[in-house]
Amino acid sequence: MIPETTFFTLLYVWMGLAVILFPILLKITVPYGRHSSNRNWGPTVNIRLGWFLMEIFVIVVFSVLFFRGPAPKTIPVLIFYATFMLHYFNRTFIFPLQMKNNGNRMPWVIVIFGIFFNFANGFFNGYWFGWLSADYSESWLRDPRFIIGIILFFSGMMINIYSDQKLFSLRKGGKRGYFIPYGFLFKYISSPNLFGEIIEWLGWAMMSWCLPSFSFALWTIANLIPRALDHHRWYKKRFEDYPTERKAVIPFIL
Ligand code: NDP
Repeated sequence: MIPETTFFTLLYVWMGLAVILFPILLKITVPYGRHSSNRNWGPTVNIRLGWFLMEIFVIVVFSVLFFRGPAPKTIPVLIFYATFMLHYFNRTFIFPLQMKNNGNRMPWVIVIFGIFFNFANGFFNGYWFGWLSADYSESWLRDPRFIIGIILFFSGMMINIYSDQKLFSLRKGGKRGYFIPYGFLFKYISSPNLFGEIIEWLGWAMMSWCLPSFSFALWTIANLIPRALDHHRWYKKRFEDYPTERKAVIPFIL
């Protein structure tokens, strides 16, 4: 068993990495999807397989640590596990199959980074909830942090999945290429799917109220704000008639 002090030292290093990475990601454009042709990032893999390989790791690592550890599996803890897995079941098995991907590919370097991220995230959260976490008694279900957090989690998940579906529907009927999305939160922002994902993990962090889950929310923000800004700049460059009042990722703000 890893001593708690070692665990938290590693976790602070992990969170520090997210803080260091954020300004770097603001400067580079991660090359997959619409940004894939920017420059050569080495060998590539089919984008569906890439998504599956990246995401399956967090399911395995989190689940093994969670179920093998001695920490009490109370109802709140099981809800944290179930909500996390609900998201990743969609992201690993459903989302890649729904992509209308035009044969797109993704650099292996992104897949390897994704595996590293998911391995670490699965480790910190799986080890925390499986081995170390204090007893979340059933009274936690009535705590305002849990109630507000779970509402945010499901609202974010709904926004994320619905927005992804709207993007997929732009290529209905075998259409190829990119189109301006309209309706729902696209009225206000270019990337409601990324906005939804940020809300989702902030909600999960709030409902479970611990440092490992906050580290995941921090990493999500560090990853997705730069990507959303890249998407927004790309839309404005690509479409002359792109709605000018639309923000990138936070309605009316950013
Ligand atoms: P995008 O919005 O770039 O793409 C989502 C899908 O929609 C892709 O299949 C894309 O095709 C297609 N698409 C996007 N815009 C258009 C358009 N204007 N016209 C036609 N088709 C379009 O999302 P990301 O790739 O940035 O992210 C995908 C999902 O993964 C999101 O739900 C996001 O929240 C999540 N994610 C989570 C991360 C985390 O750290 N938790 C990190 C990164 C992503 P194509 O592939 O051809 O561009």
